[in-house]
Amino acid sequence: MILIVGGAGYIGSHVNKQLNLQGYETVVFDNLNYGHEDFVKWGIFERGDLGKIDDIRGVFKKYPIEGVMHFAAFTYVGESVEDPQKYYLNNLRNTLNLLQVMLEEDIKYFVFSSTCATYGNPKEIPITENHPQNPISPYGKGKYMVEQILADYSKAYDLNYVSLRYFNAAGADPEAEIGELHQPETHLIPLILDAAMGRRENIQIFGTDYPTHDGTCIRDYIHVLDLADAHIKALKYLQNKNRSEVFNLGNGHGFSVREVIETAEKVTGKKIPVKEVERRHGDPPVLVGSSQKAEKILDWHPQYQDLSLIIETAWRWHKRI
Ligand code: UDP
Repeated sequence: MILIVGGAGYIGSHVNKQLNLQGYETVVFDNLNYGHEDFVKWGIFERGDLGKIDDIRGVFKKYPIEGVMHFAAFTYVGESVEDPQKYYLNNLRNTLNLLQVMLEEDIKYFVFSSTCATYGNPKEIPITENHPQNPISPYGKGKYMVEQILADYSKAYDLNYVSLRYFNAAGADPEAEIGELHQPETHLIPLILDAAMGRRENIQIFGTDYPTHDGTCIRDYIHVLDLADAHIKALKYLQNKNRSEVFNLGNGHGFSVREVIETAEKVTGKKIPVKEVERRHGDPPVLVGSSQKAEKILDWHPQYQDLSLIIETAWRWHKRI
């Protein structure tokens, strides 16, 4: 069985669905602070908290866990600057708790949700895995620290891991059974769709004076099903006794904030009111990843290259919530 820690959240729930569709047995472990119980439509659900080591031990005693995927993390970059302790306790200490029990139980496979935020301000685009890692927020630093700890653990113990550095996760299950639902929502695409539905007055564009072709920030949006596929490939890679590795997961194409809004207007058929405001602190102008390493080593080929397809799946889901 595969343990999906944080499997009631956005990315974890999509991975859980795909694992089950491919015949894996899963146990979702989530404290539901940010996750949604009704996203756990597949596998077994165990409510528990990584802050309580006996909750973790309990789940490993109860099920024959072979490998672990770890999605549980706080992800608000701005909040991590204002309250770093909240982030280090949850994203760093609680991950150490999980790893401690994994070592006690002799679990060998670990797939870790890392982030392009571990790179900090990019020196060159596209960003490869060899790009220097200089994270600027406590969120990015905590993820980076876990990556380094994993490298040490994997050298010292019989534990192999894959760290997956996501670019901007986007889109939803095309069957709209699950999707993106954050409280509060801060991400561009769901906010644009809220504006399209009239739930918000407008979408704010954070900065129009960036050194990009239209002055707005460029990001690499990668569909959540492509991410799910990469996780399953990473798990198989570990099960095939390969060594620990780190991979970027992006689609290699950048889209500006204005391009995302224009595409959303086409997909939804609605006019989306825009308000241009100041830059958001800490946003680099361009973040685009190279995923050639994952393509080559994991044989991973993202299917959702076209931004309108990504937004279409997000829209189908968004109309249901
Ligand atoms: N963004 C924006 N308005 C919003 C939310 C986001 O202009 O209301 C921009 C943000 O500055 C960034 C891009 O959209 O350039 C993606 O932001 P998001 O928060 O979705 O993801 P992040 O890149 O921070 O992980």
